[in-house]
Amino acid sequence: MTIPFLDLKAINAAYRDELIEAATRVIDSGWYIQGQEVAAFEKEFAAYCVTRYCIGVGNGLDALILTLRAWKELGRLKEGDEVIVPANTYIATILAITENRLTPVLVEPDIDTYNLSPELAEKAITLRTKVILPVHLYGRLVEMPKIMEIADRHGLLVLEDAAQAHGASLQGKKAGNWGHAAGFSFYPGKNLGALGDAGAVTTNDEKLAQTIRALGNYGSQKKYENLYQGVNSRLDEMQAALLRVKLQHLDQETAARRIVAKKYLEGIKNPLITLPKWEREEQHVFHLFVVRCSRRDELQAYLLEQGVHTLIHYPIPPHKQQAYSDWNLKVFQRSEMIHHMSLSLPIGPGMGEAEIEKIAELLNAF
Ligand SMILES: *Cc1c(COP(=O)(O)O)cnc(C)c1O
Repeated sequence: MTIPFLDLKAINAAYRDELIEAATRVIDSGWYIQGQEVAAFEKEFAAYCVTRYCIGVGNGLDALILTLRAWKELGRLKEGDEVIVPANTYIATILAITENRLTPVLVEPDIDTYNLSPELAEKAITLRTKVILPVHLYGRLVEMPKIMEIADRHGLLVLEDAAQAHGASLQGKKAGNWGHAAGFSFYPGKNLGALGDAGAVTTNDEKLAQTIRALGNYGSQKKYENLYQGVNSRLDEMQAALLRVKLQHLDQETAARRIVAKKYLEGIKNPLITLPKWEREEQHVFHLFVVRCSRRDELQAYLLEQGVHTLIHYPIPPHKQQAYSDWNLKVFQRSEMIHHMSLSLPIGPGMGEAEIEKIAELLNAF
């Protein structure tokens, strides 16, 4: 039995008829950019997150870039302002900051949750700090009540990187509705995945929503009138129509992911392997199920030999990337340890009991 890391083909095959119907509707409409499907998806996704606005954009990176850019255009940020961000995130989070010529201030995560630690975030605040950018890594919502309290006390903006956390919630409030804005990715492998690139920003700020929408549309609100030197980053009708189908199944897929996570947590009992912490059901949507092991590379090779495909999220931390060579000598011990020891096990809504059991058994025998 070979077990893939994520069987996207099977996930989408479950909705084949609905997806074909949606695609056909778009093809037959003759309208492919900025039409009814995008408007409907934006409304439905805003309703899902319980935010006032959702703005479809080209991808998750652009969602983050355009939000920071919009705050600059609105005079709330300027070049050189500091943005507090976890050191152990996917590179896109950092790229969005440097693309805007803002200054990332990398902060070590909490080792138990892999997420930005509110205490360490607060310690990193300086007179130049303007934004906190928490990442709901692996699908676990950051301790947002504390982050928002700190941000309010210091007058800071909060941008959630919610690319991995569609539907995660705390105190009844969902990812995307905690900060002043949030960036979502609908990359095919994300919990809410399109069949191509797609992303969105959610916010309750009308001015911000209008500005992001204009920036992603050549800087224009009215055709051929340009307020900003914008870009072209729009969600298209085809992806929006497909996402409307996928959104209807998101909660049920999340429930299935949580069942897999529960079985792993119950079944894996090897002291060499550290399991993810999960205290509150609704806080985690298990985009990834990440374990830690000091013999990680050996463990990965052993699982592969037995037909189990795993991935590493992420092998190289941002500050060790060539793209950020200025930071290469900096030391973030905890983040580096996570990058050395973490391994993502297969998790997805379609995983069968036998597959989960096999993986748990293999891990216990390691
Ligand atoms: C996927 C991801 C992004 C970028 O999204 P894209 O749609 O691939 O551009 C940003 N941040 C995090 C944490 C991600 O996982």
